[in-house]
Amino acid sequence: MIKIPQSVYDDIVAHALEQNPIEACGYLAGLNDEVTYAIRMKNTDNSPEHFSFDPQEQFDAFKKTQNEGLRLIGMYHSHPLTPARPSVEDIKLAYDPNISYLIVSLAEALPELKSFKIKDKTVFKEEIEVIL
Ligand SMILES: [Zn+2]
Repeated sequence: MIKIPQSVYDDIVAHALEQNPIEACGYLAGLNDEVTYAIRMKNTDNSPEHFSFDPQEQFDAFKKTQNEGLRLIGMYHSHPLTPARPSVEDIKLAYDPNISYLIVSLAEALPELKSFKIKDKTVFKEEIEVIL
């Protein structure tokens, strides 16, 4: 279970819509299972089918959250054309079994956000609780 404030949820979806048809990506800063805010990251692949983070931006995001006593508890990215589930490449690249992997799909009329944990190349769906 991951708890996401409504404002952060809306921010993730807005980021996905702004970047469409390029994949949007970012981190989720928070503590334990509760997200505090989203960090929008540049997709250096500039692609509708995959994303990569900029290493300097990654380092900055890590330092910023650490200085605030927070952690990077999740990552999100968008799927402009495909469903909200991890692709083969997403699973291959999922290096941390403890963080949440969120995907926003824009494939249907309404954006759909789903969360997953990925451990040993196995995907587990995770419930999202939207909080105020
Ligand atoms: Zn993906």
